[in-house]
Amino acid sequence: MHFKNNTDQNNTDQNNTDLKNRIEKIIKTEAANPGTETRYREPLVGFASADDPIFDEMKEIIGPYHLHPKEIFPEAKTVVSFFLPFEEKLVELNRKSSDPVKEWVQAKGETDSLIVKINEKLAAELSKEIINAVVPEAAFDYTKSGFDVAWSHKSAAYAAGLGTFGVHHMLITKAGCAGRFGTLLISAEIPPTPRPSEEFCRHKKGGICLVCVDRCPAGALRAGGLDKKKCLKQVRESGSAFPELKQVACGKCATGPCALRSR
Ligand code: SF4
Ligand code: SF4
Repeated sequence: MHFKNNTDQNNTDQNNTDLKNRIEKIIKTEAANPGTETRYREPLVGFASADDPIFDEMKEIIGPYHLHPKEIFPEAKTVVSFFLPFEEKLVELNRKSSDPVKEWVQAKGETDSLIVKINEKLAAELSKEIINAVVPEAAFDYTKSGFDVAWSHKSAAYAAGLGTFGVHHMLITKAGCAGRFGTLLISAEIPPTPRPSEEFCRHKKGGICLVCVDRCPAGALRAGGLDKKKCLKQVRESGSAFPELKQVACGKCATGPCALRSR
């Protein structure tokens, strides 16, 4: 039997830090050169242990259909979550118009493609170190009305310490809520990112806000909940204003004071 001595432990810690830094660098480099019309602020990256009990709790909170990381990838040790925050100009465009905004709808599709590209790049780089990686499919089908997603990227981001949920049911990060999340499950250990100790939503923190509720064109949002069916109808309608994009998106609730947060 081999017991870890201090030198072994220091080497492991250093390797974990190196791996964490390399993952962050790849994500930030790709987002800085996205090859899209959409532009991004600096991404945020967080890590959660695949053994964190929060992933069991998600089955109760979200539903039994939500998969545990190990149901998707039995070798998973770490859940890597990243947030690609939209540039301020795009948020302003969507904020200033009460109509659907083409750039916003386009940003959804472009960002989802960029997330695929980032995950492919990460998986290729990690495989050089015999680290396996699997992308969990969020699988929300906007053409159907089922909400029973097998994986929630924003819940994974919460687990990985990237933010707290707002009244609008989106995750508010240090860089706001306007942007999109990606996840990668990997077979290597990286120490978890601590979760925020404060609420990032002004209303939940006890302040005055509810701007997201006021901005929702569908009346889908209330302080106490989200009517997912009304929201989905609006999201589809907004997307149908630009059929050439073959995307659906609304995001008027993601243009309030928590949109950019660092502003
Ligand atoms: S707009 Fe205000 S109330 Fe709504 S989620 Fe953001 S901070 Fe919370
Ligand atoms: S995405 Fe649009 S319809 Fe859905 S809650 Fe936000 S503002 Fe309302």
